[in-house]
Amino acid sequence: MVLRSSIYKKPAQLRAMVEPGLITAAALDAVRELIAPGVTTLQLDAAAARVITDRGAKSNFQMVRGYRHTICASVNEQVVHGIPNDRPLQAGDLLSIDAGAEFRGWNGDSAFTVVVPGDAPEEVVGPRRTLSEVTEGSLWAGIAALSRASHLGEVSAAIEEYIDTHAPAGGYGILRDYVGHGIGRKMHESPSVFNYRVPDRGAEVRAGLAVAIEPMVVIGDQETQVEDDGWTVSTIDGTAGSHWEHSVAVHDGGVWVLTAPDGGAEKLAPFGVVPKEID
Ligand code: MG
Ligand code: MG
Repeated sequence: MVLRSSIYKKPAQLRAMVEPGLITAAALDAVRELIAPGVTTLQLDAAAARVITDRGAKSNFQMVRGYRHTICASVNEQVVHGIPNDRPLQAGDLLSIDAGAEFRGWNGDSAFTVVVPGDAPEEVVGPRRTLSEVTEGSLWAGIAALSRASHLGEVSAAIEEYIDTHAPAGGYGILRDYVGHGIGRKMHESPSVFNYRVPDRGAEVRAGLAVAIEPMVVIGDQETQVEDDGWTVSTIDGTAGSHWEHSVAVHDGGVWVLTAPDGGAEKLAPFGVVPKEID
């Protein structure tokens, strides 16, 4: 018989996830400040590593077998799992950064997308900016849904619904092969959090659930391939992709976004949701 630990955590365990969440957020903030044309993703990786180490934490990406970096940096047609390299970023590149920290045995995981600032043709930059905005919006729509949901399937439906109603004519593709996940002692735990409607109701949403919600959305077709480096996930049709992620705790008082310093208050306000600190 295999004994499986519950996916639902105790309040003290959720509280232990606050600090790794904040360290993850600080690492991503340090990266965000450096993003400019001419900067390399290896330099961004070093900045994230410095923050995580300085705060007494470890990069949980470096604990993934075979991966040596602190961040994933995915540019343009790369959607997720891009490996930092020494190619200088260019104005107008669509850059997704994913990172996580482990602190005292608990994990945070978060990602954002940005258009690299500087002079670039609006016909290139505009659609990329819109893609990132819609992807971010779908993440917050999913978190807002989590605050009210009885099962995780409602979160998945809310994410897809948001993307469908906010994408330009022709719609966006939502990656099917990569999904969100539970988070806690390990960066990747059960249950899966799908970014599209699924027939299953999914896990019950109740106090103790901690999940990383992470929509991965592309301008064109959702089909992707893994590049020869064995990691980088790119669209087959070459259109750009965006990735946004937060780690979120459900507790007795409501939801708290662990990887946002304000718990998600600002971004959840338009959805009428007020996050509550874990006590
Ligand atoms: Mg991540
Ligand atoms: Mg994740």
